[in-house]
Amino acid sequence: MNQPVLECKNICFSYHNLKGETKALTDISFQVNKGEFLAIVGPSGCGKSTLLSIIAGLLSPESGEVLLNHQEQVKIGYMLQQDHLLEWRTIWKNVLLGPEITKTLSPEKEALALKLLSDYGLSKFKDKKPGELSGGMKQRAALIRTMVMEPGLLLLDEPFSALDYQTRLMVSADIGNIIRASGITAILITHDLSEAISLADRILVLTRRPATVKKELPIRLTLQENSPLGARNAPEFQELFTQLWKEISDEYCGGS
Ligand code: ADP
Ligand code: MG
Repeated sequence: MNQPVLECKNICFSYHNLKGETKALTDISFQVNKGEFLAIVGPSGCGKSTLLSIIAGLLSPESGEVLLNHQEQVKIGYMLQQDHLLEWRTIWKNVLLGPEITKTLSPEKEALALKLLSDYGLSKFKDKKPGELSGGMKQRAALIRTMVMEPGLLLLDEPFSALDYQTRLMVSADIGNIIRASGITAILITHDLSEAISLADRILVLTRRPATVKKELPIRLTLQENSPLGARNAPEFQELFTQLWKEISDEYCGGS
């Protein structure tokens, strides 16, 4: 049975500062099931990062609730646009940062980190500093650092947007495959509609600010080759893209 890992119920949020109030989110409700990969798209500045910060517990909603599956004590992993690797630490030391800070470093954690480095092709770079790695490798190292904490829910805030187009295609496919293979529940924020269609099981379209859920689009592709790059060749891909593009551009044009 599908069990929600996360349920957002009627979330509202505003920022307050000296200039006054900025309403960012109104009445956002949705849920994410175990093992599901949800993408969230919406106009720039509509409140996507704010929503992720609320889910991560970094901000409190003004009203509404974020419910995490308490039977499983869901731990949240958060991956941002910048890899935020610490330049003075080796990749190995970066990857083990979470367990070190939370004082959960153990031989098992080290074994898991070694396995992930090996699975994701970074074993050879274990003793290198981040500056010696390509952008794609650094994003992979950042993902490993997040995965070492064994999160029940992975939050990804435009994790590929600092990469150039070619690298982005490869790295997003690569990371999409890793997340799928691990069966982890994930929420990806992206402004790249093709990326959302090729990676997600379902796409949530948000309106312009203050954001609310405009549409939920399940993604079912007829695939020859089951991979994010293969997904771009699915017969349904173009129609989904056009549909999403229309939803989003209506928001920019001030449509309904
Ligand atoms: P998105 O991630 O969709 O681009 P954000 O969630 O970052 O949007 O921001 C939503 C809106 O809230 C934007 O208009 C932004 O300017 C505003 N905002 C974000 N952070 C703050 C803040 N700390 N104080 C005031 N306004 C903010
Ligand atoms: Mg953002």
